[in-house]
Amino acid sequence: MWLYSVLSRVFPRSFTAKVFAVAFVGTHVPLLVLVGQAILTNGSLAGQVGILLWALGATLVGTATTLLALREMLRPLYLVEQTMQQVEEAGTSPRLPSHYGDEVGRLMARTNRLVLHFTDTVEENQRQANEDALTGLLNRRGFDAAVPAGQAGAVMVLDIDHFKRINDRHGHAVGDDVLAQTAALIAANLRSKDIVARFGGEEFVAFLPGAHDAEACRVAERIRRAIETEVNVDESAVTISIGVAFVQPGQHPASGIVSADRAVYEAKEQGRNRVNVAS
Ligand code: GH3
Ligand code: MG
Ligand code: MG
Repeated sequence: MWLYSVLSRVFPRSFTAKVFAVAFVGTHVPLLVLVGQAILTNGSLAGQVGILLWALGATLVGTATTLLALREMLRPLYLVEQTMQQVEEAGTSPRLPSHYGDEVGRLMARTNRLVLHFTDTVEENQRQANEDALTGLLNRRGFDAAVPAGQAGAVMVLDIDHFKRINDRHGHAVGDDVLAQTAALIAANLRSKDIVARFGGEEFVAFLPGAHDAEACRVAERIRRAIETEVNVDESAVTISIGVAFVQPGQHPASGIVSADRAVYEAKEQGRNRVNVAS
């Protein structure tokens, strides 16, 4: 690296300039030798001007073609630099040619592979950070990221009834299984554009964009019935209470969660296994 370090002091921002400087010196060696030899043998350049002009012309042509060719040879490096800049600034995938077998070719192929691996890992980590591991639904953080702010719609809070009893009587593993089945049924009975998350414990929250009174109640009732009929532990049905609230355009869905939470609390007081719309 010593030459690179030395030339970096002269051309700190350009690798091309460093390479050009080396090539420039290299292509001028024959001319300098010829001039030196003429001076040593004749004491002056007189009488050698013709041959020296030829040598100068040949050196200039050789230098120019060498520098042009070197610039073309440096293209892959420019490409790697530009591509990595795009990856950094726009998050695009690198599309460097990967079929060349020399050092620069291998550098391009490795850059492609490493960046793809890196972006895949980041995506996977992001997905896991937003996901509830037990049910595969979003978690609260994923819900917050997914719900469009300011859009009108219905918010549902869904809370499994007497879930603690299931845990106490049948064990945590059965409780987990009930959570997973319930989550799958909630997701299956929502509309495809709805967003649902497990907010913790046995509590789920859904946002139904654009859903009005009747539609939200129909979906909630469909979920309640599906769980009552399809989830059971030792022949006894698992049930869920659902609170529904509405958010107006411009309102944040979080405000709907507070009302829906109150509605689910009332549903519990009214006997559980029911849908209650926030007043
Ligand atoms: P209610 O009908 O009033 O909602 O009563 P509940 O028993 O469902 O509600 P409570 O809040 O008293 O109990 C919730 C239980 O959920 C307590 C907690 O141990 C259990 N729980 C929380 N997270 C998990 C989990 O990941 N797996 C399991 N199996 N149980 C959990
Ligand atoms: Mg509960
Ligand atoms: Mg609860």
